[in-house]
Formats: sequence, structure tokens, C-alpha cells
Amino acid sequence: MSKSLQAIRGMNDILPEQTPLWRYFEGTVARLLDNYGYRQIRMPIVEFTELFKRSIGEVTDIVEKEMYTFDDRNGDSLTLRPEGTAACVRAVLEHGITGGGQVQKLWYVGPMFRHERPQKGRYRQFHQIGLEVFNLEGPDIDAELIVMTWRLWGELGLRDAVKLELNSLGTSESRGRYREALVEFLSAHVDKLDEDSQRRMKTNPLRVLDTKNPETQAILVDAPKMADYLDDESRAHFEGLKARLDAVGIPYVINPKLVRGLDYYSKTVFEWVTDKLGAQGTVCAGGRYDGLVEQMGGKPTPGVGFAMGIERLVLMLEALDKVPEELSRQVDVYLCAFGEAAELAALSLSERVRDQLPNLRLQINAGAGSFKSQFKKADKSGALYALILGDDELAQQVVGFKPLRGQGEQQSIAWDALAAHLATCVVQG
Ligand code: ATP
Ligand code: MG
Repeated sequence: MSKSLQAIRGMNDILPEQTPLWRYFEGTVARLLDNYGYRQIRMPIVEFTELFKRSIGEVTDIVEKEMYTFDDRNGDSLTLRPEGTAACVRAVLEHGITGGGQVQKLWYVGPMFRHERPQKGRYRQFHQIGLEVFNLEGPDIDAELIVMTWRLWGELGLRDAVKLELNSLGTSESRGRYREALVEFLSAHVDKLDEDSQRRMKTNPLRVLDTKNPETQAILVDAPKMADYLDDESRAHFEGLKARLDAVGIPYVINPKLVRGLDYYSKTVFEWVTDKLGAQGTVCAGGRYDGLVEQMGGKPTPGVGFAMGIERLVLMLEALDKVPEELSRQVDVYLCAFGEAAELAALSLSERVRDQLPNLRLQINAGAGSFKSQFKKADKSGALYALILGDDELAQQVVGFKPLRGQGEQQSIAWDALAAHLATCVVQG
């Protein structure tokens, strides 16, 4: 195929074999979010470039080198969203739905775009489920976010495969004091830092802690720790969070180097990491961003949120063999009809059955075909039962009911009794 007719590198088709697992994952998360009282919001995929520069911060990997930015026909600079928080904050401000201290518990799902080096677990179009909570400042809500994800790992069978890392970045005042101490430390080792870190030391020193360069990481082992610079308020907040996680029995480790890739975090930051995916080990990441809304032109509004990478979690479910068995079967019943009169009867019969069993996964044979070829298709569909309608059945107003997976003999069922019979033998989702 010529190059122009291929998908863009790092942007993947999600094929029909894979979508059941995606829908299972997304459906499980959506149900949990509903149950905890979160409401969905849907934002555009494209925003003004300025939005991301202002919110994510100029000195971040995303804004420095990962954004898909282009001029539209009016000459406006637009960007495909690299993450969801910026647009979500923009939306709540634009619609005034966080004004007067109104609490909002919001979630979203969809594609994000970052120009990174594609590899397993890292793509240029990837998908996140994220949530943001506005106007709640206590550690109780930070804990709820983590407790909810813990429940999710439980439902998915992933609890043993993930680890929670926690840190607190404190208030902007305590972070300021820490920054000074960190810069002093980094200055003393400047010649041993990688180039990026030397630059960031001047522009955004906390980001040096986030480096992936192993030599710089080795030097940072002795760097001052944020925990020693927390003010009383931040310390109490962090203790409040830990007490709640302890109460539920959620294990965690404190990672003093956890600062997150984005500029806007304060107090709580956390990541769920796994060693099952190689280098791309973070599956869910988030934290508190009490200064962000104000930085974007709103009234001071506390906020906290997280985002999880759907591709990485889907990969994990596959790698750990946690794909539910029932996802492999998409058809319950396959209806074969032979001859034009039987086809007509089959269609109206199947519609009557669907009226009575709206969740039944019933597939009618299309494209006619011999007895043998229709049966082959019925078997290949994965259906548990085949229904057979030929001239004899038509005359008697019955269908042949044939188990395809070896549970019993073929029998005749009257049309009027078909739905009731299917209801007894097909477990409906
Ligand atoms: P990383 O350190 O892996 O680059 P990040 O800090 O840039 O991650 P966030 O911006 O916090 O990631 O995004 C939240 C989650 O989205 C990540 O934990 C990850 O699961 C997922 N994610 C981020 N970037 C990608 C990507 N390029 N491809 C697939 N998933 C991604
Ligand atoms: Mg990244």
C-alpha cells in the first residue's frame, strides 16, 4: 500500500477483536464513576494552543516538544489536546459551573495526542479516562479518588499488579522554599547533570526530579526532600490522606521524587505503577492543583483529578490473562433460513423475539446459502444455539433449535414459545 494510505505512526486502529475488551474496561470504569457520583463532561478535541501553554506550563515535555499544533484557516493557532484537565477547567470556567463554590465531580474519556516516540504503551494518539473535582479542598476527596481506583483494580483483577506511589508537593509557599534548596543542591552538581536538567534547573527545577536520565537520577538520591519542607497545612493534609488509605487498607509507598510531568500540581500527587509493562509503567496518575483555576483566570478554586491510560490498562489485562471469558462470544443465537418464504418468516419472527428479549444477541444469516454453509457460519459466529427455519418448519410454524456447543439434541419449538424458551437457556447481559 502506498504510504499516504496508511495510518499515522503511533495512531492505531482499534480492531473489532479488541473493542470488546475496550468496552468492558470503559464500561467498568463508567459504572464505578456513576456509583461514586461523578458526571460525564465532553469537551472538544481541539483548543486554542494558548490554553495548553497557560495551564500545562511552557517548561514541560508536553508543551516543549509533544503538541500537535497547527494554524487553522483563520490563522488561529490550535492544538490537538494532549490531556484533558486544561479543557475541563476552561469548560467549567466558561460555563460558570464552579462559581460560588459549587462542587463539580466530572469525568471524561477520549483520545489525547502527543508527538512522542511510539513504542509499546506509548502512542501518539492514545486514550484516557480522566476525572476532575472542583471546590473540595480536603484530603477526603483525594482519598476518594484513590479508593475508587483501588476498587477498579479489584474489579479488574489487577490489584496485585499495581503499586501506589504518593508524594505531597505542598502549598506554593512551601514549594518555593523547597525549590531554593533544590536549586542550591543542583548548582553544586551542575556539571554532572544531563543537558535537559541543566536547562530545567534554571526554568523549572522541580522538573529535574522527573528526569528519566539514570546518571541524573543517581545524583538526585541525595537531593533535599520535599517532605522536609512541607508547612503545617500541607503536612496535615497529607497525613489526612494517608490515614484514610490506611483505614481502607490500601498499601502505598512514599516517593519523594514524584513530581508529575505537569506544572500545576500542589499538595497530593500520586501514580499507580506496574512492572508488567516494561518502561511504560504508569497506568494512572493525578493529584491536586489548587492554583490552576486561578492561573487560568478564574476565582481561587481547589481542584484534584487523575487520568488513566486506557491502552496501558488494556495491555495489562491481556498480559495478565484477566480478559473475561465471556468477551470472546458476541453472538448468542444464529438464525438460519432456507428459501425466500422462510427468510421472510425468519425476519418477522426474529423481530418478535427481540421485542420480548431486548438484550438477546441474535444474528440472522444474511446472504442465503446452503444448509452446510449457513451452519458453518453459525458455528463460526460463536453462537451457543442455531435456529433453523426451512419449508417444513414454516409449514408447522416451528423452528429447529440446535445446541452448537454440545448441550443436548435438536428440538422443535413453536414460534410463540421461542422467546420464552430462549430466555431459559441464554444468560442475558
Ligand atoms: P509518562 O511519564 O509515561 O510519559 P505522563 O506523566 O506524561 O506519563 P500523564 O500526562 O500523567 O502522563 O497522563 C496520564 C496517563 O496517561 C499516564 O499515566 C499513562 O497511563 C497515559 N499516557 C500518557 N502518555 C501516553 C502515551 N503517549 N501513550 C499511551 N498512554 C499515555
Ligand atoms: Mg509523558
